[in-house]
Amino acid sequence: MAQHVTVKGLVIRETDFGDNDRYITVLTEEMGKIEVLCRGIRRKKGRLAGAVRLFCYSELTLFSGRRYTLSDAELDTTFWHITENIEHYALCCYFAELVNQTVEAEQKMEGLLPLFLRALYALDKQNRQIEVVKAAFELRFAAMMGYQPELNGCGACGETECDIWSFLLENGALMCHDCRKRVGGTYFSVPQGVLDAMRYIVSCPGKKLFAFAVSEQTAQQLGTICERYLLYHLDIHCKTLEFYHSLFQLG
Ligand SMILES: [Zn+2]
Repeated sequence: MAQHVTVKGLVIRETDFGDNDRYITVLTEEMGKIEVLCRGIRRKKGRLAGAVRLFCYSELTLFSGRRYTLSDAELDTTFWHITENIEHYALCCYFAELVNQTVEAEQKMEGLLPLFLRALYALDKQNRQIEVVKAAFELRFAAMMGYQPELNGCGACGETECDIWSFLLENGALMCHDCRKRVGGTYFSVPQGVLDAMRYIVSCPGKKLFAFAVSEQTAQQLGTICERYLLYHLDIHCKTLEFYHSLFQLG
């Protein structure tokens, strides 16, 4: 039976079709990820059109029939600066692609919407280190998708003290120096600063996820591990990530 529903959500994809229509993909807490048809929206200007653009967080009134159709929208929070900074914008497009590729329609994932909103907030309003926001989002998202890394001690022998830890990509586990020699796989060296950051990311309260800074070298190592780990386990390839990396190879 058709009816109206009201829900708050973040627009994470826009797909134009026909002459004036657009589908938007919206990440919500209560309904998961939903597709909403916005009829005639590309002809419209003003309040309604401005509330359903990419990376707008809005309260949407939807007509719920065979599909969701936009009836009204009220902007709650906008992240204007994201679109003015090409690196920030590219990173958020990558986050959106991660969610679009891996989260099923109407699959509820607790904490995903707050994670995305906080990442936008950290970049747009708090000017957090971009490498930190990227790595923290990736590792936390991996954990949310069922790939929480095991960082307490060696994943093979249980040892908790080691001078040079390694991270085994395939198992998402730390390996001590001795076990690394006998267990095959793809390894990354994990200096203490990187390990501290990884432990912080998987265990801190969501509100504090992006509230840390690391040296440039740590950021680089942390970034490589989190990115490779996430993409390996989700088994996906993101075009938006290639674009993001290309921005740092210019100049
Ligand atoms: Zn060991």
